[in-house]
Order: sequence, then structure tokens, then C-alpha cells
Amino acid sequence: MRNSNPLRGRNFLMTPGPSNVPDRVLAAMHRPAVDLVDSDFMAVTDSCFADLARVFRTDSRVFVYASNGHGAWEAALANLIGEGDLVLVPFTGVFSAAWGALARDLGAEVEKVAGDWRRAFDPDRIEERLRADRDHRIKAVLAVHTDTATSVTSDIAAVRRALDACRHPALLMADVVASLGTVDFRMDDWGVDVAVAGSQKGLMTPPGLAFTAVSPRALERSRATGIRRGYWDWPRRVDSEEFYMKFFGTPPEHLIWALREALDMLFEEGLETAFARHRRLADAVHAAVGVWGETGALELNAVAPAERATSVTTIRVAKGIDSNRLRILAREELDVSLGYGLGPLDGKAFRIGHMGWINEPMVLGALGGVEMAMQACGVPYRKGGVTAAVDTLAAARFPEASRANAA
Ligand SMILES: *Cc1c(COP(=O)(O)O)cnc(C)c1O
Repeated sequence: MRNSNPLRGRNFLMTPGPSNVPDRVLAAMHRPAVDLVDSDFMAVTDSCFADLARVFRTDSRVFVYASNGHGAWEAALANLIGEGDLVLVPFTGVFSAAWGALARDLGAEVEKVAGDWRRAFDPDRIEERLRADRDHRIKAVLAVHTDTATSVTSDIAAVRRALDACRHPALLMADVVASLGTVDFRMDDWGVDVAVAGSQKGLMTPPGLAFTAVSPRALERSRATGIRRGYWDWPRRVDSEEFYMKFFGTPPEHLIWALREALDMLFEEGLETAFARHRRLADAVHAAVGVWGETGALELNAVAPAERATSVTTIRVAKGIDSNRLRILAREELDVSLGYGLGPLDGKAFRIGHMGWINEPMVLGALGGVEMAMQACGVPYRKGGVTAAVDTLAAARFPEASRANAA
């Protein structure tokens, strides 16, 4: 299997994680390792902890692990969920299922709230189940904000409202791995107890860092549980005066420098501006798929426009079309790397990631590659998707000129 052909130009990395790493971030890592307790490095680390909290929009503590997102999942569970504890998992797609499966592996009892993989979770069904739990067996709700398999974004604040409506003490844990930095997320305003994320999606940093932001209530509970845990332990990390214990060992120095640069970039652009950019790029992808799919050959997985993710788009193909063939051709012949359909969507969908360090021409280039790949594979799509994407982007960026142009 050939990957990409960098002899001819850039590979378009359109996978929904890892995402493109900016040149500035790459350059920030190009330096020698330093002493474990180098004072400049310690200051950079402290600034990253503080600024990550700004991205999570929380006054709570953020813990950083040398790990991927699965590690952040495990950290949240290991600190709070004991053997036999019941957790509620609104099923939104492969990622909610996988987080639930990990909870089960760690000894929890897992109950799912059934869902439609083309829609956001239904807060009323969650509330119903919480209300029925009179003796408060449910210890946490594991809610995925954007499920990267389905490209549906659910309403995290609605889970808090459901918990509060029935005065249920369960913790609200939110997976924001695929949404943080790409769409509004407000940990404190939304009453989230634990938010988990990773470095390699919206945050423009290479894979290898995981984050958990932890409310004071969740931190207190983690102390009270008496659960045995090692590397993931929060209290040990906060209670120690030693810098070394912030990472429970050697800090991932280069990734911290990378993260510092990426956070600088995010704040230079402005969080709100970055969210708006993601919204625009997502709208352009949706517009392209809308035109291509007029023949019935393909369609967006997320059926409700308001629930469509800003960071990734899952595109279903009609029976008889092999999405993997299309995806492999796009990568091998055109240097456009797309995500594959996950779980039940394997072979039936492909995904376009549009998160992190990405702009209009990058998305248009990738959409052009997808359109070419569809031609090559004989997909009976309607032409004009890329033009629709151009129009969408132009209308958003240059509204007056676009109106004049259309007239
Ligand atoms: C990518 C992803 C994960 C897992 O992160 P890894 O770094 O691959 O372990 C978890 N949840 C969501 C929503 C994701 O998109």
C-alpha cells in the first residue's frame, strides 16, 4: 500500500485526527532537550496549564498526560469510577461506545442510552433514566461532544440540565477530543465535571498529549473514592510541590513547546474567530456534499443541520459504492488523506476532517481531490460540489462582493 507521494507537493491530511501541524509548531520543537527542572521550561509548562484552562473555559485544574485521547478517557475513569460503579453512556457513535467499553474493561457497569447515529443524543431520554435512578447508583454520565465517527455534535449543557432537573449527583464527563478549539465549549458554564481532550485534533499539536480538566467537585470525589490508581492519579499530581510530579515523571518537553506555540496561535487568531473559521469550512464541505449528492450517490450522515460538527464531516455513500476504494484512491493517487467509515459505516462512508490548522484553499483542494476520486471510481455524483463550496466560502468571507457577483 502506497501512502502519499510528497515528491509532487503536499499531502492533504484531511483525517479527523491527527490534523495538520503548523510549521510554527514544528519549528518550536526543533531544539535540544533541557534539564528536567530548567526554569524556563517550567515557566512554559505553567503557562500551558493556565492557557489550556482558558481553552476549556474553566477555572478548574487541567492535568496533562504523555498519552493519546484514550489515556484521557482512562484518566477520567481511573480517578472516579470504581469496580461495579454504574455509568451511563448516551450512545452517539463509535467513540461513545469505545469510552463505555473502556469503563467496562476497568470494572464498571455500563448502561447505554440508545441513540440514533445520525442524530445528537436526546437529553430527555437521559433525564428519564436519571430520574428512574432513585438510589443514585449512576456515578457518571459519559457524554461525547462531537462523535468523530458520525460527525454529530451533541448538547453537553443539556445533560447538566437533565442532572439538575432530577437533582442527580452523578458527575458529568465530557469527551471534547474532537471539538475543543473548533466550536464553543464552556466547561464551567455548562456544569461539566471532567472534560477530556487530546493534542492532535483542534489544538494543532502533534499526537501525544492528553488533557483532563477537572472540577473541584470531581477532584474532591476522586480523593474520597479510595480507588487504587497509578499514573493517572490526580491528587498525587496536585498535592506534590515537585515539578516532576506534574507529569508523574519526565515531562514530554518537546510536545509542551509545541503546545505552547499552538496555544499562542490559537489566541492570536482568537478562539471565537477560530470557531467561526471552522463553521465556515464545515458549511463549505456540507454545500459540496449537498450538490454531489443530488443524484442520491452520497449524503451527509448528520441529518439535522444544527447538529453537524464543525470539525469533521461523515459522508455516506449509496449501496454499490465502495467508500474505501474511493478513500484509498484519493490517498494513493491524489495525496488527499480522508478518514474511513468507522464501525457499521466501514465501507459505507468516508470522513473529511477540517479541524485545527486549515484554511479555505486547503479545504477546496481536498474537495477537488474528492471530486476527482469520485470521477475515477465512477461514482454517479452531480458536478458542481467544489463550486458550491467556493460560493459558500466567498459569501461568508466577502458577502457584499459575492452578492454583487451573483446579481
Ligand atoms: C480521536 C478521538 C478519541 C481518541 O483519541 P486518541 O488520541 O485516538 O486515543 C476519543 N474521542 C473522540 C471524540 C475522538 O475524536
